[in-house]
Amino acid sequence: MKIRADLVVENASELVTVAAAGCERDDSATRVAPGSRGTGRAAVSPPGLPRTGRAMRELGIIENGSVAAFGDRIVAVGPSAEVRAKVSLTPDARVIGATGKVVLPGFVDPHTHLVFAGSREHEFIQRAEGRSYMDILASGGGILSTVRATRAAPPSELVELALKRLDVMLCHGTTTAEVKSGYGLSADEELKCLRVIRELSEHHPMDIAATFLGAHAVPPEYRGDPDGYVLCITEEMLPRVASEGLAEFCDVFCEHGVFSVDQSRRILEAGKAMGLAPRLHADEIAPMGGAELAAEVGAASADHLLCASPDGMRRMAEAGVVATLLPATSFTLMLGRYADARAFIDAGCPVALATDFNPGTSPALSMQFVMNLAAFGMRLRPAEVICACTINAAHALRRADEVGSLEVGKLADIIIADIDTHLKLPYQLGTNFVDKVIKRGQVVVTGGRRVVQ
Ligand SMILES: [Zn+2]
Repeated sequence: MKIRADLVVENASELVTVAAAGCERDDSATRVAPGSRGTGRAAVSPPGLPRTGRAMRELGIIENGSVAAFGDRIVAVGPSAEVRAKVSLTPDARVIGATGKVVLPGFVDPHTHLVFAGSREHEFIQRAEGRSYMDILASGGGILSTVRATRAAPPSELVELALKRLDVMLCHGTTTAEVKSGYGLSADEELKCLRVIRELSEHHPMDIAATFLGAHAVPPEYRGDPDGYVLCITEEMLPRVASEGLAEFCDVFCEHGVFSVDQSRRILEAGKAMGLAPRLHADEIAPMGGAELAAEVGAASADHLLCASPDGMRRMAEAGVVATLLPATSFTLMLGRYADARAFIDAGCPVALATDFNPGTSPALSMQFVMNLAAFGMRLRPAEVICACTINAAHALRRADEVGSLEVGKLADIIIADIDTHLKLPYQLGTNFVDKVIKRGQVVVTGGRRVVQ
């Protein structure tokens, strides 16, 4: 019995499956071409768990490989001749040659602040002149200036702005993204932003995971009374967010001068009680136990982590919390340093990467730019970088059963990149290598441009 397929991407120079060695769901993927790299026996992470340690270097590369799909799902992965032999193409099937190209899973961006109005390009000049992020925030700039612009914008404008940003992300290979609220900071305005995120899901091919980030900053209405605002979040906002089913995750900016560990715990526990999985902005600017809190509450992910303590890293590893690192933010803030990715890997933490796209501290929509920074700024290996932007990023969103690798049964979210080896992906700077993007079995980008059906 042959497997029905209506899409085949074939003859890739490298088919980067990111499937763990020995863990493939499809038997064809275990019989890789002679001389294939990255399929050694060193993988230590069982399927279903994020990759840690040396397993982050396992890319499951198949030379001269193919991937076939039917509808929105992958039905076969393996050496091209084997895939061709085992699938039967429907009359309208699309066959895409990938000779000389790298084929890999769509990128997952697990941390973005995509929904906002206004812009803050003037702030980077202030930073270049030596003003700190917290200094700019304290004088009414930073997040609060975006809050003013976002509150003033009608939902239709926010949707239009965000759809354009999603198109840019898609053209750079991102097929799944997390999107946070957090520029409303009142019950009505936060719900407005979350409904905008829901609308984006309905109007754009990108799969979107919505996060409620009412605790992004203390709004002017609660200046001097952060506990009052925490109560507003737990008693007023969260019940409305949960009852409308507007978010999967609840997030907090746990930082000195923003929300304390105790306040963050109250918010995350309240969210958990209402079915929202916790994640948090932790230990970005000062060490304050955010990583430890992430482990304590069983967060899906703790993000930023420039100042995480060794004990915090160890506890995150034990609790299986993904460390989502955001090098574009360190770059934009001109910190001259990055989170210690190697220390997290050595501690046994799964590491993911994200853009942290936002108007103030990370004007980056491309995961390829993040890959450049992770390779050169954090000294991660190309395989670790790709793992962090695919399967581990999918784990950070608890969607690894659906996306993050090219495996039978997962969504057909596929990038065809105009490079002959994956090593060039993080190495060559400032270039968009994406030729085609296939999202749920549909070609949505070709020649690096958005295809609108
Ligand atoms: Zn953020």
